[in-house]
Amino acid sequence: MSKSLGNVIEPQQIIEGGKDLKKQPANGADTLRLWSCSVDFTNDVSIGTSSIEKSSQFIRKIRNTVKFMLGCLQSYNLDLHKNMLRHSMLEDASSLERYMLAVIAEYTAQVERYGSEFQFPKIVQLMEYFVNIQLSAFYFSICKDRLYTLSVDSPLRIATQAVLFESLRLVMFAFGPIIPHTIEEVYEFLSPELKGNHQSFFIETFAPLEKTWKILSTFKEWTWLLEIRGEFLKILDECRLESLVSGNPMETHAVISLSSIPTESNFSILVRNLNESNVLADLFLTSGVKVTFETDSETPACLRSRTLALNEFTVVVGLASASGTKCDRCWKFSDEVQPVLNLDSSDCSICPKCMENMRHMNAFA
Ligand SMILES: [Zn+2]
Repeated sequence: MSKSLGNVIEPQQIIEGGKDLKKQPANGADTLRLWSCSVDFTNDVSIGTSSIEKSSQFIRKIRNTVKFMLGCLQSYNLDLHKNMLRHSMLEDASSLERYMLAVIAEYTAQVERYGSEFQFPKIVQLMEYFVNIQLSAFYFSICKDRLYTLSVDSPLRIATQAVLFESLRLVMFAFGPIIPHTIEEVYEFLSPELKGNHQSFFIETFAPLEKTWKILSTFKEWTWLLEIRGEFLKILDECRLESLVSGNPMETHAVISLSSIPTESNFSILVRNLNESNVLADLFLTSGVKVTFETDSETPACLRSRTLALNEFTVVVGLASASGTKCDRCWKFSDEVQPVLNLDSSDCSICPKCMENMRHMNAFA
């Protein structure tokens, strides 16, 4: 864009749109603000339809992400949140949530640092990764099952809501100065139980997640686990493309062999605990995970497997078809699924975990 060449785009045109709204749509003030914060203003800056469209798409992504979190926080309040963070309840519920809070605390610290140095492009870049990868591609895909199938007072469901609330607070904190109209609108939709008596996000004092949450003794082990998960999802995609499995990951089991890792290492202990609490299956988006340790002699047969190097260790990760019957409620396959009579006298098949949750929710007499 050059003034002497006359190819200037008026800011008003980006905000309100041109004469032909199909060719020059109205993007709003926040899109222009997001674009200006995402470019390096210490160098020559280029602007055009594609860069504005990219900022507009990112705002849409933020809005959809926030909409999901607001919907999941309807039965949540500040007292529950404070109790959850103060209490060891979170540790007991799931170490996945503990890992996510460590990630959020780290992102919060980085946003604070970049903000104090006026490095807005770095904040946008960082938060783009947080929204697209950490939330959408990772945590949301895992937490939906808990939110939709567990009872509202389940500690695991409440721990999930704690992570969603802290994620929402981070999004509002990081983007408040960049896209204030969008964030103020988000704040309007936050329930009174979560925002108290404040009328505006910009008069609320934001207390960042305490730095102590950054310390997680098993952070390295979690990084390894996510590497194994990434490899498993690649294998799943390959098997889908070759029609070895259907499009439903619940019809599969992940198989992990830790035979080269000592049974009492932090990694083996973490994997064992996650598997015993069924969190590992949620993490791999499958009906179950079969883990073999150093002392086990047999590794279950796989449709496809691969060996992965993790520092001095090697791990074999593979995919197998799930056995058993599909639970009509959680859609997971299990050998323990039982036929039951529904409230409308129709037959359905339910797994023991769902049966317990439904009894708890008084869905059955
Ligand atoms: Zn079930």
